[in-house]
Amino acid sequence: MVDRVLVAEPRGFCAGVEMAIKALTWMVRIFDGPVYCYHEIVHNEWVVKAFERVGVVFVDHIDQVPEGAPVMLSAHGSAPEVVAGAQDRAAIVIDAVCPLVTKVHHEVKRMAEKGFDILYIGHEGHDEAVGTVAEAPESITLIEPELGLGAFEPSDPEKVALLAQTTLGVYEWQEVMDSAQTRYPDLWTARRSDLCYATTNRQSAVQALVEHADLILVVGSENSSNTQALVRVALEHGVPAHRIDSADRIRDDWLEGISVVGLTAGASAPDHLVQAVIDRLDPTLGFELFSVTEEEEYFPLPPQLRNFVGVLQAMIEASVTARPAREPGLIETDRSWTATEALDIL
Ligand code: SF4
Repeated sequence: MVDRVLVAEPRGFCAGVEMAIKALTWMVRIFDGPVYCYHEIVHNEWVVKAFERVGVVFVDHIDQVPEGAPVMLSAHGSAPEVVAGAQDRAAIVIDAVCPLVTKVHHEVKRMAEKGFDILYIGHEGHDEAVGTVAEAPESITLIEPELGLGAFEPSDPEKVALLAQTTLGVYEWQEVMDSAQTRYPDLWTARRSDLCYATTNRQSAVQALVEHADLILVVGSENSSNTQALVRVALEHGVPAHRIDSADRIRDDWLEGISVVGLTAGASAPDHLVQAVIDRLDPTLGFELFSVTEEEEYFPLPPQLRNFVGVLQAMIEASVTARPAREPGLIETDRSWTATEALDIL
């Protein structure tokens, strides 16, 4: 029996995940037939299964999408050839890429065009890294954070850029950054680090939590990079930590001799899974919120979706009332609902 649970704030859904889940919910509501989604919309097992239950088909290759089907591209960003392939075969393509990933894609293209060799810190095979590297494969070298710069040799040491996957651990990114700056004094990097606000805020919360907790539990899926980074932050500070998909994965032996549990969730984990963990732990002194900062970021739905729904609404209104609607529909009031509500109506 644990005494207390400290629940990190912020935790769970970030603005990019909110946008992607709501966008896919719109697609499910608009189309009768299956909606196809290139890659998991977000890296969370529960969310993916929820969409599969309402007919979304997740594919790993764009040629698995039947000609003329509606397609959504995941929040992690897609390679240019995937976007082109989707546009060739699909009736409609909605790209739910997070704008903070798009920013890195733009940086890669810009620096490659300027003739820079690009060091990209990321995890080989992760959807985001695959899509980003594909923007300029001939100019980019993927660096696994734990392996460092290795044998990287630029053609011109004065023209080296360093970019990163948005969801890395801050400390692992910093190590590579420091050694790259030492080796290449003219190193170009983005003015603000590529690590996104959600990644850094959730890690800051864990960094503060480890001072007060005997154990850290992180709710999130195995393939979620930012979730794994949260576990590593706690371990780096010498506090035992475990990633769990759901409350039923908690092992009794983890809790032996533990008084205070610090609890958080990766950026793609729904909050009801966090509540279920609190219920499972059933702390004798209850739980408290442990807040380090507030987040107010909001990302609008993808422009293709807004345009498409706008056209549909106009057609329906014209055929029914022959005049514009007096009340805005949900697409115009997107800020007023959440991804959690979207998942509830699936
Ligand atoms: S974790 Fe960061 S980069 Fe990834 S979807 Fe969320 S806000 Fe965007």
